[in-house]
Formats: sequence, C-alpha cells, structure tokens
Amino acid sequence: MKIPRYNHLAQFADLPATTDQIRHALATGDYILGETVARFEHRFADYLGAAHAIGVNTGTDALTLTLTALGIGPGEEVVTVANTFHATALAITTVGATAVLVDCEPDSYLMDLDALDAACGPRTKAILAVHLFGRSLDMDRVTAIASRHEIPLVEDCAQAVGAFWGGRRVGTFGAAAAFSFHPSKNLAAAGDAGAVVTNNPDIDHKIRILRGLGQDGQGNHVALGVNSKLDAIQAIVLDAKLDLLDGWNAQRRTIAARYARALIHPAITVPPPLQDPGDHVYHLYQVTVPHRDAVLAQLRSDGIDAVVRYPVPVHRQPAFARYRFDGAYPHAEYQAANTLCLPIRPDLSPADVDFICDRLTTAITSSQEGLA
Ligand SMILES: *Cc1c(COP(=O)(O)O)cnc(C)c1O
Repeated sequence: MKIPRYNHLAQFADLPATTDQIRHALATGDYILGETVARFEHRFADYLGAAHAIGVNTGTDALTLTLTALGIGPGEEVVTVANTFHATALAITTVGATAVLVDCEPDSYLMDLDALDAACGPRTKAILAVHLFGRSLDMDRVTAIASRHEIPLVEDCAQAVGAFWGGRRVGTFGAAAAFSFHPSKNLAAAGDAGAVVTNNPDIDHKIRILRGLGQDGQGNHVALGVNSKLDAIQAIVLDAKLDLLDGWNAQRRTIAARYARALIHPAITVPPPLQDPGDHVYHLYQVTVPHRDAVLAQLRSDGIDAVVRYPVPVHRQPAFARYRFDGAYPHAEYQAANTLCLPIRPDLSPADVDFICDRLTTAITSSQEGLA
C-alpha cells in the first residue's frame, strides 16, 4: 500500500475542459496577465469577499511585494512567528527590514498572541500573521493588537485559502494578505503562482505597478519593481479548481475528524478542536508523537508519505545566521522536534485514514519497545 501526500490527477474533476482552455491559450499567445488572469483575479477576490486580488509568481513574491507596497524597509521591524515556512521571514529580510520572531503556542502551534502584543514596539511597522497548517488565528485578537499599536496587519494565508474566522475568510482582515498556489497548497496551480489580496485601492495600484517592473503605463517606470506576473495557464487551472475548493476543504475537515477519532491514544497529541466551525482548512494534519524520527521512518517504510513541517525553525536556519533573534522559542523548537504531518488530501479514503492510524499506533508501540 502506498499513500502519497498529493494526488494531482484527482484534482481535475473536469480535466478535458481545462485542457481545452489551455490548448486555446497556447494558440492565442495571450500568456501573461491578460483577460484570463484578470478573470481569475476577480473571481478569487469575490470568493474571499475582498475588493482586489493581484496575481503574481509565488506566495513569496506576494509577501515581499506587500511589504514593499506598505513602504517597509531598513531600520523597521516586522513581527512574525518562529515556526513558519522560510518564505515568511525571508520576505521581511528581502525588503531590508528586521524580522522579530515570537514563539508559538504549545497546543495549536500558532503564533502566541500575548507574545505578539509584547513584541510590538516603537520600531514595529507591521504584523505578519501566519495561519499555519490551515488554522485561522484568533482574528478578533490579532486585529485588536494591530489597531492598538496602530500598525498594518499582513496575513500570510499560504496554507489557509478558504479558511474562515467568524464568518469572514482569512485574507480580508488586514491591510493585505499573501496567498500561495504552489502545487502543494490547498488551491494548487500547475507550477508556481501566488496572489496579493487587499481591500485598499492604493495597495492594489502599488502592487500592480511593482509586479510589472514598476511600470505605470508602457515605458513609464515609476518604481523599482520586480517581474512577477501570473500567467494564463496557471489562471485557467486555478479558475477551474476554485469552484471545487470549498468542497475539498470540507473533505479535509472530514478526514481530520476521522483522524482525531482514531488517534485517541495516550502517546499521540492531535490538533486541538476548532474554536469556530470552519476555521481550519487542514492544509497539514499535524500530530505530536514520541520518538518522532523513528516513527516517521517507520511510516515512510510502510509507504505512508508523512513529513516534518518544519524540521528547522526560522531562528536556526543557516541563511539567518547573521540575524540576531533575541528571544527563546521553546514551543517552536518542541514542534520542530516532535511533530509530523500525516497525509491529508481531499480524496483520501476512510480506509486510507484507518490504515495510516493503524500504522502510526503500531510504529509508536514498536519505537517505545525498541527504546525501553
Ligand atoms: C508556501 C508558503 C509560502 C510561500 O509560497 P510560495 O508560493 O512557495 O513562494 C509562504 N508562507 C507560507 C506559510 C507557506 O506555507
């Protein structure tokens, strides 16, 4: 039995229509931006309940361009969390600002909001909040902290497309939000792709200029931008899948609930229950287990595509060696050392889930016996 993390073919319920559209796009030569991309941008903004979406090359670019559009640069601080994907902190350093990291909470592994509040000081120019694993942060608290400190809030929604907080989609709470459509994400392009989402027309305008080499009208370069434009083929794929996303996210929740029921076990900690229905789109299903590396190796040899996200927290990455992060991040370190992600994808069958749970509990028992 092999249980991969992704099943890309299963995501194309209407593959012939999508391939026909791609064939048509190939023939027209309308490859970059254009009507196809504009259509997806509108539909994606509508889906989220936001005013604007701007398609870019990657989620990383979406983060960097957002911080640039907010005018954040050297000598200024952006507060984010120590256990996130590398790109979150990288975007802050790319614009020349200083990343200030706070620890995560020990149960949800999301940013500790008391620590966030305490980390905001006179040099803080933005909060970069990460809805890690697909779970929404408590956006009542996050928005209150941002407004108390009078700084913009940026949401990293790369793992949480479609998640809600209190009836509103994540990505609509702050000045702007960054989304990734990397093939691993819940809404997956056929390559790299990303988007910035905002309700602010000024930020929308700035991002559109920045993504296109700083041009405001042909040949008129008004800013030092980048070249980061969504292409039509990705937009066709994303547009087709957007209609299916809520159904897929619901299936992910059903699978997560089955995991939680099957993994009632003294040595396994599953994600805490939801605070609000629909606040989690289970991009990853994270469990805390003893002897993590031995258990992971056993699962992988059983054909189960479990992985660690992320084995090395931001403050220990060699790329950031010259940055001084003054803080201790015991919960982020604990998460990096003791958790693993079980496969979760919309088409995973109940039998697959039961098999994974059976192999996981067996692997834990044998690793405990092996070490006894
Ligand atoms: C994937 C991811 C990104 C970056 O997205 P790319 O499209 O791969 O550049 C940023 N932040 C988080 C939390 C992510 O998971």
